[in-house]
Amino acid sequence: MVSSIFVTPELSSLLADYRLPDSLEFGRELAPVMYRADYGDGQWQDAAAVPFADIPVNPASTALQFAQQAFEGMKAYQIARSYPTLFRPNRNFQRFNRSARRLCMPAVPASLFAGALSSITNLLQPFIPDGAGQSLYLRPTIFGLDPHFAVKSSARFVFLVLASPSDAYYSEPIRIVIERNNCRAAIGGTGAEKVGGNYGASLQATRKCIEQGFDQSLWLDPKSRSNIEELSAMNFMAVIDGELHTPALSGSILEGVTRDSLMTLARSLGIDASEPVMPVDELVRDIKSGRCSEAFACGTGAVISPISAIGEADGTVFELPEVNQMAAKLKNALLGIQEGRAADPFGWVVDPRDSQQLAAQLNQ
Ligand SMILES: *Cc1c(COP(=O)(O)O)cnc(C)c1O
Repeated sequence: MVSSIFVTPELSSLLADYRLPDSLEFGRELAPVMYRADYGDGQWQDAAAVPFADIPVNPASTALQFAQQAFEGMKAYQIARSYPTLFRPNRNFQRFNRSARRLCMPAVPASLFAGALSSITNLLQPFIPDGAGQSLYLRPTIFGLDPHFAVKSSARFVFLVLASPSDAYYSEPIRIVIERNNCRAAIGGTGAEKVGGNYGASLQATRKCIEQGFDQSLWLDPKSRSNIEELSAMNFMAVIDGELHTPALSGSILEGVTRDSLMTLARSLGIDASEPVMPVDELVRDIKSGRCSEAFACGTGAVISPISAIGEADGTVFELPEVNQMAAKLKNALLGIQEGRAADPFGWVVDPRDSQQLAAQLNQ
């Protein structure tokens, strides 16, 4: 059952006039509606779907001055079904509120988060692209509004859900470089949260690695600078002696929904999957000896990006013997569930049309 949503004449005429562009990319096209709620006087208010537009933000706001901001990335799929579905949205909801709390922002109640997802996916249902790999990418966002130069939390916040009709994020195998100088996250810092500041901190290393002929940085732990953590927006996995390994959560690694889903799927396919501490020098030895056959990155956007080579800043490059073997198998299995082409034995796929039902699922 679809909950009734109040659609203003302005929104319905916007939606009636909207056309998807002839070609989509990943995350470029911005849908004509967004969801907005404001927090002030200790409560969330004025929650509604509104036209997508610039919003006034005070230049002295805590969001702009102190990166008091957090976000999520998730997708609505409508491939083999006539209605949209979400994938494990409870994980994104719970992580969003962990990120918000870490930056002293108010939690978004399940009813509000669900109302936003439900109304955006219902309104945009005709525009959810239905080709393999395509989706409506969703970007829940929260940030502080109060203007002051004192370093303290805002008392007013905005919660938005933005949407982007997206093509598959197709990625050629990527070449990554071990980042031995910068760190993306500190011990006790915000690496485990999806907050804007983490990404600002990664940009310089990314630019440098592109100049060196690589695509992305492979970050090491901020304490010993010897153990693999992840990439700038994707978790890291390697196949060692036929087993799937991903670095154990260290407190500075973002706990990806895709990471967890792939580990679960691998085990269900009879592949041993473990989460050890992964010293980078050991990985390099394992590549040289042939024990490490394959590596890839994973996250909601690309699902999986195969890695073809891992290098050092001095130009040494270690090519992976296999590219996109286990990665392709796992990606196909995960996409099959997400797109409704395969059975969903783990109960990961959620129907967002009824916001009350969705709210109950977000707390699970
Ligand atoms: C979002 C993100 C991931 C992937 O998380 P998913 O929930 O799988 O999308 C991994 N690492 C970082 C740093 C991220 O921001």
